[in-house]
Amino acid sequence: MPACDICDDTRWKSITVEGISRVTRCDCWHQRMYETLLKHARIPRRYAHCELANFETHTDSQREAHRKALKLVDQFPVVDRGLLFYGDAGVGKTHLGVALLKEAIRRKGARAVFFETRDLLKLVRDTYNASTESTELDVLRPVLEAELLVLDDLGAEKRSEWVEETLGLVINTRYSERRVTVFTTNMVDGENTEPNSFAFQVGLRTRSRLKEMCDWVHVQGVDVREVGPHPTAEDIARWEKQSPASPKNRGRRDLPPRAGTQAKAQLKPVRERDGRADLKWPGGRAGS
Ligand SMILES: [Zn+2]
Repeated sequence: MPACDICDDTRWKSITVEGISRVTRCDCWHQRMYETLLKHARIPRRYAHCELANFETHTDSQREAHRKALKLVDQFPVVDRGLLFYGDAGVGKTHLGVALLKEAIRRKGARAVFFETRDLLKLVRDTYNASTESTELDVLRPVLEAELLVLDDLGAEKRSEWVEETLGLVINTRYSERRVTVFTTNMVDGENTEPNSFAFQVGLRTRSRLKEMCDWVHVQGVDVREVGPHPTAEDIARWEKQSPASPKNRGRRDLPPRAGTQAKAQLKPVRERDGRADLKWPGGRAGS
């Protein structure tokens, strides 16, 4: 009994073009191809539901980010620059990354792969362990060679020379091979004295490479992990007023003093442009 009643499992189907009968790939072939590529894309189960069609937009910057994600898929694989979504936790950056990746697989048959930056670094590090058979290159090859890479949560890992070098290798290789890369990050574009800045976390050279290879898109919005997945206008207003994570409240100067290194960094002036005192620390990210 064939599984496909269109093609009897030949994977080809007949179509008629301008009165002439032809054969083309059956729908079941496309579906199988999609499923195979999707399996290789390594999307974590918790993001499996993410689609461009179900991305909720509450702010102009979210609408703009969604538009750019869609445009990248439309143009793929003829894309000059990737995307870098930056902004606070919970505003939908990862959702967009996963969604555009799936859409590029579905519509363009892209060989695409998703990695959380910390997971990738851990896999690479594990290959140095004598008991593992895989080499550093076994882990890195699909990352370096994928037609589309989504590297999630760049900058969340603890900074070190090794981290900087390894990420530098990935980013530089993809840049010179002109492969499309989409990044998401909670980092801010501040000075290198700021612990959560690109300059501090990944270094100035990598920052400037990221500027060259990606269109930077600032995503702002409410933290859906706090307000829930389908907030009403009232929910959002309440969150803005009450949550310590809302941009409005983080701009306040009368935060209680913190201990140690945190207190030192707190002396830095509130950044003027968006009125936020962004005091985030490696290892202590809000909302994640
Ligand atoms: Zn079929």
